[in-house]
Amino acid sequence: MTCDQLVCANCNGRVVDGRCPVCRANRARLQQEQHGPFATLNPTVLLAVLCAAVLALALLMR
Ligand SMILES: [Zn+2]
Repeated sequence: MTCDQLVCANCNGRVVDGRCPVCRANRARLQQEQHGPFATLNPTVLLAVLCAAVLALALLMR
C-alpha cells in the first residue's frame, strides 16, 4: 500500500497532497515508516539474521 492512494477522512483530499494538518501528520508518519531506521529491521529479517548466525556458529564449532 502506498501513501499516495490514501484519502484523508478530514478533508477528503489525498493525504499526499497535505491539504490539512491531518494529511500532513499522516504523510509525515508514513514517510517516517518508509525511510525510518527500522524500515529494514522488521522481525522477520532479525529472525533470519539470528538463524544465519547460529548456523554459522554451529558450522564453526564442528
Ligand atoms: Zn486532510
